[in-house]
Amino acid sequence: MSNKSFLIKTFGCQMNDRDSEIMGQLLSEDGYIETSETDQADLIILNTCSIRAKAEQKVMSLLGVLRKHKKRNPKLIICVAGCVAQQEGQELIRRMPHVNLVVGTQNIYHIVQLINSLGKHEVATTLVDNYSIPAFIPNLKQHNVGGEPEIFRKFLTIMQGCNNYCSYCVVPFTRGREVSRSVSHIIEEAKSLIKGGVKEITLLGQNVNSYGQTNSVTEPAVPYSFAELLRAVAKIDGLKRLRFTTSNPKDLSDDLMSCFAEIDILCPQFHLPVQSGSNAILTAMHRRYTRELYLEKVTALRKYCPEIALTTDVIVGFPGETDADFEDTMSLLEEVQYHGSYSFKYSDRPGTRSADFENKVDEKIKSERLARFQKRQDEIGLAYNRGYVGKTIPVMIERNEFDKMVGRAETNHLVHFTDLSSCTVAGDIIDATVTHAGQHSLQGKLPGKD
Ligand code: SF4
Repeated sequence: MSNKSFLIKTFGCQMNDRDSEIMGQLLSEDGYIETSETDQADLIILNTCSIRAKAEQKVMSLLGVLRKHKKRNPKLIICVAGCVAQQEGQELIRRMPHVNLVVGTQNIYHIVQLINSLGKHEVATTLVDNYSIPAFIPNLKQHNVGGEPEIFRKFLTIMQGCNNYCSYCVVPFTRGREVSRSVSHIIEEAKSLIKGGVKEITLLGQNVNSYGQTNSVTEPAVPYSFAELLRAVAKIDGLKRLRFTTSNPKDLSDDLMSCFAEIDILCPQFHLPVQSGSNAILTAMHRRYTRELYLEKVTALRKYCPEIALTTDVIVGFPGETDADFEDTMSLLEEVQYHGSYSFKYSDRPGTRSADFENKVDEKIKSERLARFQKRQDEIGLAYNRGYVGKTIPVMIERNEFDKMVGRAETNHLVHFTDLSSCTVAGDIIDATVTHAGQHSLQGKLPGKD
């Protein structure tokens, strides 16, 4: 057992958030105490993301800052985990010799043993080619990295990796081939979370729609589709809200869409990444769906759940993207009218096919396209949010990072309150009347209050 302190800094997606929680929990069980102060930490873990050049640059610049901390405190252990670790491996230690440990995406479960073994080997890399998700860590309690006080909303990883090899994406290289966890392990973990006070679970995977198509390496078969898994998790006593992310449109089945009409606790929110509205660019991206198929899925989703809040991801300036291709993305935005979107300028990622594509788009043009897309998306999102004003909606109370009580609507909107009663506690689901709409959040009051 250790009595040292640790700090985990997480970059990137919800998969990384969940991985950081798991590492934090394992370290806590070994006696480590979490700190938010860099100067007080005996161990600093950067859980990294390499999906975009910018995310990777942030990690490298933070590692540069940590070099000075290491000079002041030579016993400080610096560990790089996650996707940059998996991709760079030994090269990272060569470039950053003050890093003690580089842990690949699937070795996070061995974090304690790896750190304990460092006495003998000052510098170590552990990366894996043989990807697997450990079945279930018995008694894995909830751990909130960064001192988040809430335990009501949790992510639950149901699968790892991806087999799609979109031409711009590093995930199949950093997270490996797709593997699905067994249903029994997922249900067991969900029950354990709920027993610990969790009321809302988000099922996580790179492409949850293909859950069950690839087996878990720990069990011979996963005889469930994702829709069936959703139904099974939704039946667990005590669960109040269920969400999932992320979905590749090509694998979005009618059965899964029908769950929105069928499962009461499934929140009416869907993140359906489109990436581009141009068929030529979708082909170059190797997305394996067309604009037309995507729009059909959107229509079907809205048939099953008219109030569904749709969000998406968009990349602008993919190699070869012409003005006409970009206009196709703008017209798709007009047609779908997303509640919100995450949009980025394309950047080359080492090892991906698109890094070698010609016809790279000029940075200035990429910036102009991004600004135009985001401006229009902001207008559409605000108009949607204004549509909630005057409505009474269920909101789950939570505490924000400034220790203020806020709420989360089923659509995933953050709701701010001015009049929460002192007896309202985090985790309660209350009815709130929306009084004001902002760009990215709502304001609400308790019904009947002026
Ligand atoms: S579906 Fe494509 S973009 Fe998503 S993780 Fe897989 S390869 Fe990457």
